[in-house]
Amino acid sequence: MTRINAAHSDQTDPLRHFRERFDLPDGVVYLDGNSLGALPKTVKARVARTISDEWGEQLIRSWNTAGWVHLPQKVGGKIARLIGAQEGTVVSADSTSINLFKVLSAALSLNPGRTGIVSERENFPTDLYIAQGVAKQIGQGHQLALAEKPADIPAMLTDDVAVLMLTHVNYRTGYRHDMTAITKAAHDRGILVIWDLAHSAGAMAIDLAGADADFAIGCGYKYLNGGPGAPAFLYVNPRHHGGFRQPLSGWFGHRAPFAFEPSYAPSGGIEHYLCGTPSVLGMVAMDEALTLWDEVDMDALRAKSVALCDFFIQEVEGFADEFGLTLVTPRNPEQRGSQVSYSCENGYAIMQALIARGVIGDFRAPDIIRFGFTPLYLSFAEVAEAVAILREILTTRAWDAPEYKVRGAVT
Ligand SMILES: *Cc1c(COP(=O)(O)O)cnc(C)c1O
Repeated sequence: MTRINAAHSDQTDPLRHFRERFDLPDGVVYLDGNSLGALPKTVKARVARTISDEWGEQLIRSWNTAGWVHLPQKVGGKIARLIGAQEGTVVSADSTSINLFKVLSAALSLNPGRTGIVSERENFPTDLYIAQGVAKQIGQGHQLALAEKPADIPAMLTDDVAVLMLTHVNYRTGYRHDMTAITKAAHDRGILVIWDLAHSAGAMAIDLAGADADFAIGCGYKYLNGGPGAPAFLYVNPRHHGGFRQPLSGWFGHRAPFAFEPSYAPSGGIEHYLCGTPSVLGMVAMDEALTLWDEVDMDALRAKSVALCDFFIQEVEGFADEFGLTLVTPRNPEQRGSQVSYSCENGYAIMQALIARGVIGDFRAPDIIRFGFTPLYLSFAEVAEAVAILREILTTRAWDAPEYKVRGAVT
């Protein structure tokens, strides 16, 4: 790795003007956009307008006049461009957990006679919980098998496996799977693949169509900056459209919701994966947050993401050993997303001390401090500042204070 110079990198950063498109408080180095993206400035006015004009004045007419009813498809279309999905294959709806319930149920129904579901022990727990719930709900003996490490996955792709369900970038370690290679290996054994893009959508270009993924899901409030609890999204490969495949058969998934027929008849397209009335305020914020992505060069985004992570790793390396910080994120950029994590003793208190000094990252049990790098609004100078503050906290043991050891409900 060549040494990165912060000032020079900031001067030549082709994305630096995006920073002014976000509201960020002074005195904060925000390294948690992988958990809750920052606020794009235009979202405030757009949501205010939706409340005052569309809701307040136009009332129910806005379902048609303001296009509320088509927001799931409209927002889905904007996300589709960022994840390499074909037109009409993505909708925004519900939460990531609920979307996984829908697509996993559909995937299992497409592969009858097989009862295996493969994932990883290190996957984000809600994904595993949903898989357990789906298996129980179906009641046909589906079994969830968990790989201990990525290298174990290929050997687990046996002929009794129906679905492989992986998160593209691991939330804790930042490890990134080779989507194309794994999807192909699974397909060669007749296994359908679901990718969770929670930590990759908006962090790098993704090519779902190129990888021939069967299904995908992802989050709106992380790198896509849709706001707290923003609607999530889901993707279904066109070859799996049609049929009655997902169990949350609400009226928005009906082929004619406003015909008010007593029997469910699934929409033949991606709309079958909608359930009920969209949350308009959340959906509008998401729609607005996505507008700036039209201007983003995804190659430049990824190049800056890699450079920010490399820079952080290089700078922390000078004192990591001395203070017992172990890098758990792969050094090879090909194998990682847009975050850097260390395992360390007293990680929770260290992170609290960092946050008290305006460097906001987060902690993931049992012992991981996690730093997310969002290329649209982070500078190299800020990364240098964060490293200096981390070093100071470790050197002075400032973290070793009772107030940094009290845990909130959200860590
Ligand atoms: C953030 C995240 C989720 C969140 O799911 P919600 O339903 O929005 O709470 C799910 N899966 C992964 C892999 C995540 O990183």
